[in-house]
Amino acid sequence: MLLSHGKFFNHRENRTIDFPRYIFVEDGASSRFGEALGGFAGNIAVLTQKEVLEKFPVIFDLLKQSAESMVSYELSSVPVARRLMDLSLSVARQHPEVVIGIGGGSVLDSAKYVSYLLNLPLIAVPTLASNDGICSPVASLFLEESQRSSIRTKMPYAVLADTSIIIDSPPHFTMAGIGDIISKLSSLEDWKLSNEKTGEEIDYFAWTLSKTACQSVLHFRDPSLDNEEFIDTLLESLISSGIAIEYAGSSRPASGSEHLLSHAADRLLDYSGIHGIQTGFFTCVVLNAKGSRYYREVLEFLDNLGFFRSLPRQLFDCDLFERVVELAPGIRKRYTFLDIINADDLKTAFDATCSDIENLRLTRSTADQA
Ligand SMILES: [Zn+2]
Repeated sequence: MLLSHGKFFNHRENRTIDFPRYIFVEDGASSRFGEALGGFAGNIAVLTQKEVLEKFPVIFDLLKQSAESMVSYELSSVPVARRLMDLSLSVARQHPEVVIGIGGGSVLDSAKYVSYLLNLPLIAVPTLASNDGICSPVASLFLEESQRSSIRTKMPYAVLADTSIIIDSPPHFTMAGIGDIISKLSSLEDWKLSNEKTGEEIDYFAWTLSKTACQSVLHFRDPSLDNEEFIDTLLESLISSGIAIEYAGSSRPASGSEHLLSHAADRLLDYSGIHGIQTGFFTCVVLNAKGSRYYREVLEFLDNLGFFRSLPRQLFDCDLFERVVELAPGIRKRYTFLDIINADDLKTAFDATCSDIENLRLTRSTADQA
């Protein structure tokens, strides 16, 4: 899939909307790195983690050949904004023309932030399909060691997602991508709710883009983690969701009550949870509480993929959920379903969702043993 480059000025909102110049999602996408690198012939800053570049010999060889000078920076798996500001100063001293980020979600978040601080184009090469940050203007960073926040940055100049590499990534990361894309069902319903209750304007292009992305995954004919076409569809859907965020000028099309619950859980849990696993789970709870027609469909879709095996046990803890419900509405000023449901009804839906998931698990393990 290739989209042409464009900066589009939205006169009504008086802001520029930025689209990537290249989006390659395919088996062997890394072999098209030369096209994305195009006219950049000066210094190049590569932000990655140990051993990741070895997975991309084509990219590594091209970088060595075409760059006047390539400097590789080793990133930590915890993206802390303050440390990245320091890193940006070191990167700036090399006067690069372009930043290349190669790795999982945290690496891309870091590379996005560094390229934003230095106002340089970013070529993003994801190694995971774990969330819609692959191609969005938002980076999820720690402002302090323990508090993760979404920071507005800018869109990548190019994205190269090589399905042949991503298909071999640890399954729970791909499950997370599925959970993050499914969560748009709940986010979009919240956007409509806010439109009805507060008059917040809906951007229907962004709404449709996000809805179509989610439906393409949910209604895929034969979804499985080893089906390359499904992984392609998942990646393209995550990218479309990121583009919807840029188009709307906010994360509204991609983040609603389920994301608030997940962000609250991040602050309360003593481990660093995987974003898409949490948002996928809380989407089920919210859809159930809303009495949504999608609830059963989503539950069965996720169960068939084995999604619930990736859920950490802590998320089933009622006491934790009570604290999550208290904290979630204050995480961000955004009108959502959490503003109209009372805490007891939400807890009832949580209990019912947990038992539905347990029952599905039991049915599955009995069927597996038979
Ligand atoms: Zn998300």
